[in-house]
Amino acid sequence: MQNRLKIAVQKSGRLYEGSMQLLKECGVEVSNGNNQLRIVSGNFPVEIFFLRDDDIPEYVQDAVADIGFVGQNVVREKNKAVTEVESLGFGKCRLSLAVPKNGTMQSVKDLAGKKIATSYPVILGQYLAENGVTASLHEISGSVEIAPRIGLADAICDLVSSGSTLFTNELREMETILKSEAVMISNNNLTAEKTTILNSLLFRIRAVKKAKNNKYVLLNAPNEKLKEICGLLPGMKSPTVLPLAEPGWSSVHSVISESDFWNVIEQLKNAGAQGILIIPIEKMIL
Ligand code: ATP
Ligand code: ZN
Repeated sequence: MQNRLKIAVQKSGRLYEGSMQLLKECGVEVSNGNNQLRIVSGNFPVEIFFLRDDDIPEYVQDAVADIGFVGQNVVREKNKAVTEVESLGFGKCRLSLAVPKNGTMQSVKDLAGKKIATSYPVILGQYLAENGVTASLHEISGSVEIAPRIGLADAICDLVSSGSTLFTNELREMETILKSEAVMISNNNLTAEKTTILNSLLFRIRAVKKAKNNKYVLLNAPNEKLKEICGLLPGMKSPTVLPLAEPGWSSVHSVISESDFWNVIEQLKNAGAQGILIIPIEKMIL
């Protein structure tokens, strides 16, 4: 039998779509039509196992799966012997302390002697210890946000993304303990053959991530402004400059990063660029 890399993915929930989408963008064919527990890709040496996210670190540690896609929050909480290989760019959230909206608590120090409800006792316990705060932790596995209202706790420590759940429950986010996103974790003792498959998958994942963080830009520039405009567009090596049919004008092509996108566009416009087109990049290999 051909050696395949076993990938653990959340069976259903917030990480499922992002994980399957990433594999698809990496050209790994996986069809999960009828709710199977395990599927084999038809065009890449991997098989996917669908599991509860909480179990993924342990399964990867024990080599039931070779790698897994799971939230950093779960990796930190479970504290298993696995390697965090790469962040995946989806499943972004934060683990925060939240308190009743109208209360007076302002910082972690105010939690001394209080009751805190959470599904993250390990991470929270470490955070409290680092801050020299002693509090009593009440571990619950779901609906943590209702604990203060029903008198079960004075505060909670839970995952937040938009903050709407906190808002609905009349809670206020007080402090962020951990910023999290989905990551790839790997078993610590992969065979050489599996490492080769992993590296080939990683190469694709990095190309997809890079493409998402960058845009292709095309613009027209008067020749006397070319130097200034090219200075704003470092590109992968340097911008491509092609003459337009109209004398005195050029077309400039380059790549710009998503992070300073609006800033650069404004500067380009101010420098005399016209007809600016921004195009998404599908894959990017440097
Ligand atoms: P499972 O049945 O697999 O145990 P779950 O209920 O524990 O599922 P989900 O709510 O689907 O898990 O969340 C999975 C992961 O999605 C979280 O561990 C976290 O990394 C990420 N995530 C992103 N945004 C949020 C959010 N607003 N609330 C909770 N998790 C979030
Ligand atoms: Zn879970």
